[in-house]
Amino acid sequence: MVTASPPQKNIVIIGGSCAAMGAALTWGEKALESHRLIIIDVKSHFNHVFAFPRAAVKSGFERELFVPYHNLFGGDDRKGKVLHARVTKLFEHHVELDREVPEFGTKVEFDYLIYGAGTKIPAPGRLAAETKAAGIDTLKKYQKAIEEAERPVVIGAGAVGIELAAEIKEHYPEKHVTLLHSRSGYLPRFKKSVDVMTYNILKKHGVKQILGDRVILPEQGFPLEVKPIEIHTRGGRVIQSDLAIMCIGMTPNSQLLAELSPKSINSDNKFVKVKPTMQIQDDQYPHIFAAGDVLDHTDVKTGHFAWVQGIAALNNIMTLINGGSQEDLRPYVSYDVALIRLILGNKEAVMQTNMLGPLVTAGSWIAGRNIPDNIYAARAWAWVRTPLDEEHADL
Ligand SMILES: Cc1cc2nc3c(=O)[nH]c(=O)nc-3n(C[C@H](O)[C@H](O)[C@H](O)COP(=O)(O)OP(=O)(O)OC[C@H]3O[C@@H](n4cnc5c(N)ncnc54)[C@H](O)[C@@H]3O)c2cc1C
Repeated sequence: MVTASPPQKNIVIIGGSCAAMGAALTWGEKALESHRLIIIDVKSHFNHVFAFPRAAVKSGFERELFVPYHNLFGGDDRKGKVLHARVTKLFEHHVELDREVPEFGTKVEFDYLIYGAGTKIPAPGRLAAETKAAGIDTLKKYQKAIEEAERPVVIGAGAVGIELAAEIKEHYPEKHVTLLHSRSGYLPRFKKSVDVMTYNILKKHGVKQILGDRVILPEQGFPLEVKPIEIHTRGGRVIQSDLAIMCIGMTPNSQLLAELSPKSINSDNKFVKVKPTMQIQDDQYPHIFAAGDVLDHTDVKTGHFAWVQGIAALNNIMTLINGGSQEDLRPYVSYDVALIRLILGNKEAVMQTNMLGPLVTAGSWIAGRNIPDNIYAARAWAWVRTPLDEEHADL
């Protein structure tokens, strides 16, 4: 006789990126029978954004950066599933989707939720593309524009802008590449030595660096178009260019949560406020947690921190499912250490690391060795239990 499996409740994660990956891999190891993990992302594939600055310049490995979710739970639907849809509205115990998905239709109910919707930044740092084909197409458009331009200007020198400028100049040494930054130094959350080493490597590459001056942005921004343009700055500079690439402006994807729980949003910056337990700061919704870049948090916005925050949220949800009370929840204790590896072309890099104990800065000799073209995309494929080989790379 076949016995029917007992019905399960859902833990939903909005956003299928680093916060969700941390939670999903932890769930994969110790899933509870009573619940399953439903990850919802408007993107059909995990985007390995870490390599986007390079892939916006160099071709040949784009398909490796869009990683299929289908085997994340090893095909065990009772453990978890990834749904390809946009969440359009968040309610106390369900979400509404912009399209029908098999088994759910347009509504997914949940017992617990992790809000991991991340942030928006302009392409090519992150792409609006929702499918692998569209993502590859966007990267190729950037490659073409950058190949055609003679005087590209990268506006904004956060990690993405710095890496992009370095990649362009390394791949096309003959181009006049300018990196324009409003601050007087790079990456203020990190040691001064990160700033200095980065500056020196870019100088060696031949990138023209303009610091402490701000671009006057045209109302519509700069289109991805190669044609003569003048870029004006507040400091009175006029830069002759033929392609401006914007690498500024991070905005949190917090609107859905803001509509349900305005209290949990920092009204100054629109990031999500959480308690140390990773529950949102709104006592009306103790079953809603948040993690990752969307948080109003002192952690540096990196994949590593999103990952461990996702795990912290999931662990507390599991405590509640197992009958624990609010008092049993563990606070998320951050390492609170800013770590980074800036990849500045094939052989150059700057790293702030605590791998050997103290927090130190390392240059290219240590940080720049053997970096694969796809910037470690194979790791993302390993997370989703799918080999990165000829048979699977186009999935
Ligand atoms: C170019 C680049 C390079 C980087 N390099 C590094 C690096 O080397 N190391 C490192 O640690 N970090 C790096 N980072 C930072 C790292 O990528 C982020 O910290 C990390 O991705 C944050 O993960 P997250 O899960 O919080 O959110 P995000 O990665 O922002 O993802 C949020 C997800 O939510 C989805 N989503 C949003 N709204 C909805 C909705 N309504 N419905 C459905 N889905 C939705 C989005 O599609 C997205 O997939 C880099 C970032 C960029 C942009």
